[in-house]
Amino acid sequence: MVKKRVNEMDERKIEKAIDTLTERSDEFQGVSDGVCNVCKLKSFVDNHGQCWTCSDGYVVRPNSGVIMSPGKFEAESRYVPYMWDVYLMGGSSSDDGVNVTVQVDKDDKRLFPELRRRRSVVMYESDTGLVNEV
Ligand SMILES: [Zn+2]
Repeated sequence: MVKKRVNEMDERKIEKAIDTLTERSDEFQGVSDGVCNVCKLKSFVDNHGQCWTCSDGYVVRPNSGVIMSPGKFEAESRYVPYMWDVYLMGGSSSDDGVNVTVQVDKDDKRLFPELRRRRSVVMYESDTGLVNEV
C-alpha cells in the first residue's frame, strides 16, 4: 500500500467522506445475501431488501448495475461510489497522481458479487469532478 500524501483539500474530502460513511453505516444495516429489490442484482441487502448503492439513493439501472443518477458517478458501475469512498477513507488503495487503485476485499465482494473475480478497481477523477472507472 502506497501512503498517499494528504493535502488540505484531501483532508476536507476525507472528513466529509468519514461523516458520510458514518451516517451510512448507521443507515445501511446489511442483513443478508440476496437480490436487491431495486436494481435486481445479487447483493448484500439491508432490511428493505436494497443494496448499498440503492439504499444510498442512487438510481441504478435494473439488471445492469449502471448508475443513472446525474452527477459524479453517472454511467459508472454501482460499486464505484462505494469504492471511491473507500479510497477517500484511506482504505487499501494507492494513488499514482492520475489513477486511484483500490483493492477489492472480501466485504466488497459480499456487497457487490460482480466484483468476485476482481482484485482491484482503478478510477480517476476528471477536472470536472466526475469519477470514472478505468
Ligand atoms: Zn440495488
